[in-house]
Amino acid sequence: MPGPLVDTFGRVHRDLRVSVTDRCNIRCAYCMPAHGVEFKPHSAILTFEEIERFIRVMAGLGVRRLRLTGGEPLVRRGICRLVQMLSAVPGVAEVAMTTNGVLLAEYADELRAAGLARLNISLDTLDREKFREITRRDDLAKVLEGIAAARRAGFTEIKLNAVAIRGQSEDDVVPLARFAGQNGFELRFIEFMPLDGQDRWEQCRVLPGEEILRLLAAGIGPLEPIVEASSRAPATEYRFCDGLGRVGVIASVSEPFCDRCGRLRLTAEGMLRNCLFSTEDWDVRALLRSGADDGALADLVWRAVRAKKRQRGTDQGQFAETRMAMHEIGG
Ligand code: SAM
Repeated sequence: MPGPLVDTFGRVHRDLRVSVTDRCNIRCAYCMPAHGVEFKPHSAILTFEEIERFIRVMAGLGVRRLRLTGGEPLVRRGICRLVQMLSAVPGVAEVAMTTNGVLLAEYADELRAAGLARLNISLDTLDREKFREITRRDDLAKVLEGIAAARRAGFTEIKLNAVAIRGQSEDDVVPLARFAGQNGFELRFIEFMPLDGQDRWEQCRVLPGEEILRLLAAGIGPLEPIVEASSRAPATEYRFCDGLGRVGVIASVSEPFCDRCGRLRLTAEGMLRNCLFSTEDWDVRALLRSGADDGALADLVWRAVRAKKRQRGTDQGQFAETRMAMHEIGG
């Protein structure tokens, strides 16, 4: 069956997150445990050629935007070659990346030359000691260098992503917004989701979007909603009335945007997922490695899309109980 990939709720799927590794060079407590993580062996991870073949099939089904993620995509050796391969696939309009920025100073120019269109960089705090506590690594300076290098390399529309956790993030909200505003980046706060892989998530640890907006208004000044914001963006966007710039809130917990979700995800080991919270996945790798033809791959994709539930992996509205951590799925 040809694309576009429309699910049973009428949602059209044109975006695919491609995780290229489950490994990471930092250890954010909300994403993975400090020790004892068992990473997948290299043989279990899709090769670049396997990813490219699958993307050709997806592009044939109407998928237009790719975002490379992980784990940390920049720890995957040869990542710029993958960017180049995927940018050249007919039908793919954009290849973007989400990164923690630690290795970005090294790769920014090469990524740009390879055709990477956009960068989202994760940054939860501008305080060195706090950064070390959150990520269990002392790498804030490298991230800031990476951000500067990305700008020099010609990336525009850089977005900074900060996870919002009650009791942790409150003091960072205003400094991050000032930093983003003064440098021309859009800042987005993401509500803490139950994907830490350690069962430590609790509703009371979510710093809701509404409260973030109150902190911003009190610390900087009034904000107004941006009405023309893209309807497919997960963030609700605002601008400061004094012109400092824009901020977004990804209220995945307090105000889920599942009715507008047109995303699919491919894990590093080649499992297709129709939701972060899906309790099921579809084994692309097995098909790729058993010599299946493109038709069989497209059928698998359609099965995944048709099985997509209404909200957060269920039809009921609560979070489906996935046991996977964010770094294993690809955020
Ligand atoms: N390593 C890259 C990075 O740090 O941007 C890409 C992968 S990371 C899993 C993608 C995004 O997911 C990051 O912005 C991270 O902060 C966010 N994230 C991870 N765990 C999360 C959680 N439990 N709730 C909300 N966001 C989370």
